[in-house]
Amino acid sequence: MSKIVILGAGESGTGAAILAKEKGFEVFVSDMGEIKAPYRALLDQNGIAWEDGQHTELRILNADEVIKSPGIPLTAPLIQKLQELGTPIISEIEFAARYTKAKMICITGSNGKTTTTSLIFDILRRAGLNVGLAGNIGASLALQVAHENHDYYVIELSSFQLDNMYDFRANIAILLNITPDHLDRYNFEFQNYVNAKFRITQNQTKDDAFIYWSEDPVIDREIKKMSLGATLYPFGKSGNAAYIRGNDLVVEAAEPLVMPYAELSLQGKHNQLNSMAASIAAQVLHIKNETIRESLKQFAGVEHRLQYVATVRGVRWINDSKATNVNSCWYALESMTTPTVLILGGKDKGNDYSEIDELVRQKCHTLVFMGLHNEKLREHFGGFGLKIIDTDNLQDAVNGAYNAANEGDTVLLSPCCASFDLFKSYEDRGDQFMAAVRKL
Ligand code: ADP
Repeated sequence: MSKIVILGAGESGTGAAILAKEKGFEVFVSDMGEIKAPYRALLDQNGIAWEDGQHTELRILNADEVIKSPGIPLTAPLIQKLQELGTPIISEIEFAARYTKAKMICITGSNGKTTTTSLIFDILRRAGLNVGLAGNIGASLALQVAHENHDYYVIELSSFQLDNMYDFRANIAILLNITPDHLDRYNFEFQNYVNAKFRITQNQTKDDAFIYWSEDPVIDREIKKMSLGATLYPFGKSGNAAYIRGNDLVVEAAEPLVMPYAELSLQGKHNQLNSMAASIAAQVLHIKNETIRESLKQFAGVEHRLQYVATVRGVRWINDSKATNVNSCWYALESMTTPTVLILGGKDKGNDYSEIDELVRQKCHTLVFMGLHNEKLREHFGGFGLKIIDTDNLQDAVNGAYNAANEGDTVLLSPCCASFDLFKSYEDRGDQFMAAVRKL
């Protein structure tokens, strides 16, 4: 019997283990951290051998194939050893895709993935298709392939998942944008990260669609270098498959859809782009414009992304905790229409803050730093002549912003950084922020 080892038993690892077991493999799951109780229970229920708090190398190095959690870096010593042995290391998505004939709609990019993935899922559901949501959101693809058998999957793919995908073929691939992110995982070489993102196009043929933002300078540069197999659907400027004309969003991958962008439920320039990408995908799948229009108008949005929290004494509070890199904060600031108090900081991933200099100068009168290491922020923004409030916890940050904001202002939490210095996750950061605001 062929031996599969699964490294990392979160949502994707546990799902992969269950599918592998069902397909008759000998399965062993190993996690260096503690496996959460519900996942442990699932593994036990399915009779799957597992360990946590350690990696038993002998057993792992004996595998015929390894499915690696996207959280484990390729530089981890165990991964290096497996590579030296020539053991194939794949991602859960690669593995699960071997066992389904469903159409795969895959979304990647530095920012906007979850929003666009959720919007496409909403459109497909409204169209009555049998569709699953997978990747970084919802249940793992593997578990759905094992138990649900959908005809379509809308999959959010991070660069880490793409790193270990080889034969997978996306019927529709969407690349929203590429800006520096996660450089700590890519040897501080931007090109390595860019190459990972472009893996979304590998194995595509002319029957497949590649939807991309044509005005992204990095995407534009790369496309000119490569010959892609897919049918191309650029969006962004006039003449593309989708673009803005006057006050309208126009989508022309099929019968033209024209709709005032003021009617989009997701506001902000970045969301116009996300809406274009999603609409093209829907038209390629022959979904009626009427359905697309309804979804674009009614889609409820996703938590922690420019999420309105409350208005307190005439000040609007916005939770954009998911802005874990500088570019997403740029888009958040760009969409601000009032004077702004910006709360930022956290775990820096090699950030270059100069990208937001101009918008900070234009829109912000106060910056609230919230992190255990604010030195880089102090150094960068210290000379801007803005009010600076330096904090190392959420309550002080919220109080500071509350005192600094005037009626008519917006307080925006859009941190540019990961959350792990003070919080469990960006969701935890957003939830704590919203709870603190609601207590004001
Ligand atoms: P991801 O899943 O790629 O992290 P999200 O949809 O969760 O992206 O959005 C994260 C943040 O990125 C949002 O809060 C928003 O400020 C910003 N954002 C969303 N879409 C875009 C886009 N197309 N371009 C740039 N920034 C975006």
